[in-house]
Amino acid sequence: PRYTPAPDRYDHMPYARSGASGLKLPRVSLGLWHNFGDDADRRTQRDILRTAFDLGVTHFDLANNYGPPYGAAEESFGRHLAADWRPFRDELLISSKAGYDMWPGPYGDGSSRKYLVSSLDQSLARMGLEYVDIFYSHRRDPETPIDETMRALDQIVRSGKALYVGISSYNAQDTAEAARIMRELGTPLTIHQPRYSMLDRWIEEPGAHDSTDSRSLLRVLEEEGIGSIAFSPLEQGLLTDRYLDGIPADSRAGHDGRYFSERNITPERLAKVRALAPTAKERGQTIAQLAITWILRPGGVTSALVGASSAAQLRDTVTAATAPELTAEQLAAVEEALAV
Ligand code: NDP
Repeated sequence: PRYTPAPDRYDHMPYARSGASGLKLPRVSLGLWHNFGDDADRRTQRDILRTAFDLGVTHFDLANNYGPPYGAAEESFGRHLAADWRPFRDELLISSKAGYDMWPGPYGDGSSRKYLVSSLDQSLARMGLEYVDIFYSHRRDPETPIDETMRALDQIVRSGKALYVGISSYNAQDTAEAARIMRELGTPLTIHQPRYSMLDRWIEEPGAHDSTDSRSLLRVLEEEGIGSIAFSPLEQGLLTDRYLDGIPADSRAGHDGRYFSERNITPERLAKVRALAPTAKERGQTIAQLAITWILRPGGVTSALVGASSAAQLRDTVTAATAPELTAEQLAAVEEALAV
């Protein structure tokens, strides 16, 4: 059946400005790291993407090597774009990245100008796009001068292949340095994509990930006017009810042990998840919704970048963006649960 987007798609989702930029992000964004490879069901993929857009999720996050195999998620997103979303390109915020292993040899990994520029060209071809909205340096590569990586990002914006640029997983010190260089080049960094969840709070801590900056990453982002989008805010599914009674066969840990498996699901972490349940229940939320409302709390991040293996999961998660704020008592109860 032909796709017609929901007429009320902008009636519920709140949007927040990414730092000091003019760009607004949906408070919940969708990532295609998992569930969009060649091994995943295409109807389910279409169902997830259509549902997202109908719910006001305008932002779709990709990277060169999402799959499997590498590149497959961008290809499947491109197919979907061509079939369903051609008339809606200007309603969509599409991102991609380069920084990790992509193709053989010295130019298919890292953060050199050589790798970033050619990788983005490949990403655009796979998705059938003329430009991405956001392009990221996926990680700080210690072998490449940060100045070269930032100049490559600046060049990419000036060439029209990306409208905005960002960095992912850079620590506070490198972020401050990157922000300074980009400001001088006249292409300010719009966004930072760190890992952040109730179970991984490094962005709140000064000195995390070998930073010598006396500030936390969150502080640097606030002071530099850079927005933030938290990846894996559900800790790949652990911060949900998914693993409370063992490991379901259709779960990420059950069928895809590449980045998340039984060893990440320790009794200690499960105890924390269980301890969160009463607060979620009191608020009439699922544990997943509580985890997202928490990450979007005042002082938290601009957007929560979630994954989903079904449209129903995404529907569940998106509701968290409009839930009432956590009370001081509930925030304290969350801290207690996480200290278990
Ligand atoms: P999440 O922490 O949101 O985990 C998503 C998984 O949680 C789903 O696949 C599903 O697992 C489970 N889930 C989601 N919603 C629910 C729900 N409502 N109830 C129960 N279970 C639920 O994020 P991801 O780890 O998928 O990462 C999100 C995105 O972040 C990626 O797609 C990517 O775009 C980005 N990312 C960026 C990185 C970077 O280096 N910059 C690194 C990693 C991710 P199941 O499959 O078991 O059903």
